[in-house]
Amino acid sequence: MKLQPRPWLERIQPYRPGRAAASSDGSMASNESPLGASSHVARALATASRRVHRYPDPLADDLRILLAERHGVEPDQILVGNGSDELIFLLAWAYLAQDGHAVCADPAYRIDEISTYLVDARLTKVPLRDWAHDLEAMATVGADIAYVVNPHNPTGTIRSRADIEIFVKTSSAGLIVVDEAYVDFADDPDDLTAMPLVGSGRVAVLRTFSKVYGLAGLRIGYLVAPKPVVATLRKTRAPFSVGALAQAGAIAAIRDRAHWSEVRSHTLRCRREVQQLFEQAGYLVAPSQANFVLVEAPYEDALVTRLERAGIAVRPGTTLGIPGTVRVSVPSDAGLRLLAQALRAEADRLPASAQTGPK
Ligand SMILES: *Cc1c(COP(=O)(O)O)cnc(C)c1O
Repeated sequence: MKLQPRPWLERIQPYRPGRAAASSDGSMASNESPLGASSHVARALATASRRVHRYPDPLADDLRILLAERHGVEPDQILVGNGSDELIFLLAWAYLAQDGHAVCADPAYRIDEISTYLVDARLTKVPLRDWAHDLEAMATVGADIAYVVNPHNPTGTIRSRADIEIFVKTSSAGLIVVDEAYVDFADDPDDLTAMPLVGSGRVAVLRTFSKVYGLAGLRIGYLVAPKPVVATLRKTRAPFSVGALAQAGAIAAIRDRAHWSEVRSHTLRCRREVQQLFEQAGYLVAPSQANFVLVEAPYEDALVTRLERAGIAVRPGTTLGIPGTVRVSVPSDAGLRLLAQALRAEADRLPASAQTGPK
């Protein structure tokens, strides 16, 4: 028999990762932490490395207990995954495979889209309104899962918890998945998080160690959900998907509140500065509560190339489903200086009108 991939896989456009820059300071394409991980993480990894001949704890119990305390939920409401991306795939298998239906924003977080197409489910993409989720329009879609990324990637915009609460009441979706990869960078994370809504029985919250904790390379994230959802996903997961080093690193990372605060305050300060640099150079910037900003750039390629020449890698909007924009991750202080130089050079070259251009 001739080997053929399942026909519906043709819909999937492969994920295109951000390009690396010449220097770590110039890396502004993948929303990684410019300050790296807590120094406690390296020590925890060294200790854990002595036991790498053993299989990891399948459910990451030590970490789950810590997380349950932190969020005021029970450990059985938490599932730890190989990055939150793994958990998104598990959700698709369990709730979307064979005739399921998901609703998300357009542009979407790419993994929400890929995982839905993977299981041949229907995806309704609802265009953003003023760069933010149009929850009112999304609520009218009868779907198994509604994905809300808050703050959103790639725009950095938020909808308030009050808005999400109304969405939970009005949406007919079976499960509302709120992806909070960037919630730590919001002006008030406690006020924004949908964690208090998990008790409604229809809300699940995704978190990751890849952003504020700087552990993108370890691959670890988690879901806080109603117990039946966690029990279902446990049936479908690979038992050892989360490595022992990742578990040890995550535990060390969440215990270091000082590092969390430092990354957070650096990000909030530099985000303002990045926004100002682009605005002074004549660009419009979407209001961001994340560790990146989305810049409107009608001449997207020209801006990307110009920044590249200055040693800066950013993410072209075209690769994120939002052409005519460029997504710039909040850099280190040295990265900020690179950016300032590059934009000053550009401002000298082009009149402001040529940069903002016609909409
Ligand atoms: C970065 C990001 C994640 C994190 O994914 P991991 O697999 O945990 O690294 C999740 N959701 C969104 C929207 C993101 O941008």
